[in-house]
Amino acid sequence: MDLTKPHPTCAKQNYPALMVDEVDEVIAHYMGGTALSDLKPSIETIAGWTRDNNPDILSCAYGALIYQDGSSVVARGLHQGAHCRGHNAHTIGIAFVIGGGQAPTEAAILEFCRVAREYRKYFPRIRAVNPHSMRFKTECCGYMVSMDRLRQGSLAPVETEWEKFIKSRYDVLVRAGKMENPEYWYNTMYQLELESELIERYLRKDADYTERVEAELATLRARVAELEEQI
Ligand SMILES: [Zn+2]
Repeated sequence: MDLTKPHPTCAKQNYPALMVDEVDEVIAHYMGGTALSDLKPSIETIAGWTRDNNPDILSCAYGALIYQDGSSVVARGLHQGAHCRGHNAHTIGIAFVIGGGQAPTEAAILEFCRVAREYRKYFPRIRAVNPHSMRFKTECCGYMVSMDRLRQGSLAPVETEWEKFIKSRYDVLVRAGKMENPEYWYNTMYQLELESELIERYLRKDADYTERVEAELATLRARVAELEEQI
């Protein structure tokens, strides 16, 4: 699963990006209504169910969907959902594909938690997992879903994208610290600064900026590689 790649039916709607410093909560949903007989409806079918109640919602309203067989599909991914009125800018919507009176399978619960942890790599401020009913007058996500289980699994420690980036650059910092070549030091530091800025912007989906910085970085990396050969 790659949260940076929304489902094609969601991608073309061009929804706003979720902000790294704003997202702090995962909201659990289900499909509601009567028990589902088809447990593997397509993302378009699910979008149609939402549209029956809210004609303005053009494609699947959730960030990701969890099926009973333990599989999942990215819907809006890192883009803003339309899953919880008044809270869409700071929450992620993950939905079980089950109807009223149905309980998620063990596989589905594990997958929900895994997907929530994936989200937390991008949004480290997420500290809460709540049912839709906590934020809106609804029965969602049903009485068969154990929020304790979801919270326990979803909030387990993860290595964030940011931490991964810092670790991957640690050796570069150490090496740069040992060099006495000022140009190497300057270029390396500048490269790190741009790369850290880049990852921040990438998470914010600032495409124009990203393209510009990537070009600048390519030049800089080439020069750093040249300098490294001389040392
Ligand atoms: Zn809901």
